[in-house]
Amino acid sequence: MTRHLLKAEIHCHIEGATPPALAALQAEKYGIDPSKVLRDGAYVWSDFSEFIVCYDAVASLFKTAGDYALLTETYLLELAAANTIYSEIIVSPDHGDRIGLGADAYLAGICDGIHAAREKTGIEARIIVTGERHFGPDRVVSAAEYAARAKNPLVTGFNMAGEERMGRVADYARAFDIARDAGLGLTIHAGEVCGAFSVSDALNLVKPSRIGHGVRAIEDPALVERLVELGTVLEVCPGSNIALNVFPDFDSHPLKRLKAAGVRVCINSDDPPFFHTSLAREYDIASAIMGMPDDEIDEMTRTAIEAAFVDEETRAKLIARFDAQGGVEAGDEAARGA
Ligand SMILES: [Zn+2]
Repeated sequence: MTRHLLKAEIHCHIEGATPPALAALQAEKYGIDPSKVLRDGAYVWSDFSEFIVCYDAVASLFKTAGDYALLTETYLLELAAANTIYSEIIVSPDHGDRIGLGADAYLAGICDGIHAAREKTGIEARIIVTGERHFGPDRVVSAAEYAARAKNPLVTGFNMAGEERMGRVADYARAFDIARDAGLGLTIHAGEVCGAFSVSDALNLVKPSRIGHGVRAIEDPALVERLVELGTVLEVCPGSNIALNVFPDFDSHPLKRLKAAGVRVCINSDDPPFFHTSLAREYDIASAIMGMPDDEIDEMTRTAIEAAFVDEETRAKLIARFDAQGGVEAGDEAARGA
């Protein structure tokens, strides 16, 4: 299917990327019985509230900087083995604080994992710090201040995730001003749980270059046109949308319609094993279920690289590697794995 295609991803939450096999090992390490949320190598939940319980239970299995290094490296190696050359992972320093690890150690662990994976496979990765909307505007501002202060070369973007129905975008605009002033790339979850208005709000008040999901923009033709004019990139996560009932099935998912309308879209996995998916599967869904040809899928990968929060030198290298796909490049060979 799409095994032969080079891939890139710019929307994946680090705790949400935990492979079930690693969760099982971590549970064993800490003497925790994971059977309530992990059975037969898969996460178990049936509605949104159970999903949150399951997600939190899995996240709680990572307690040290070393745990986060292992999680990050494991996920990136999995991506590299599926021919992925670039990944942006969404992290919450606030979460690091809440679990008693501390934001700095949390971030340091994730950076160690990125370095280790790059060393082994050549995969490039960057970190997007996220504020969590349901903890309120003050916490989101703190997350932006932390990201701005971090002056960490791997921290290149700022996002806001969490309960989309909590407050309006205007309440959180200051956090994005702080991040923008610090030179960070901006993206924001919108148009997933809430309708097209949340995407309009994000465009008006945050002016991000990308939007997390944004797929419900399809409900408003004028908004779709505006996205085309602005060139805003939608980080689309089809498997996540179906698992969380944003759309009933892949046939009704708007990825193809948005792309056909001229919106810049790319393919992402969000919280892959929680939605019984992976980036590789999302590419396969676009190909085999949505019927998108390889050249259209390649266009989406190129869009992800063009929209990546990286310095221009790194972007040029990634584009060159992408354009040379099929060629014999040392990094590619490693990325293809066994
Ligand atoms: Zn997300």
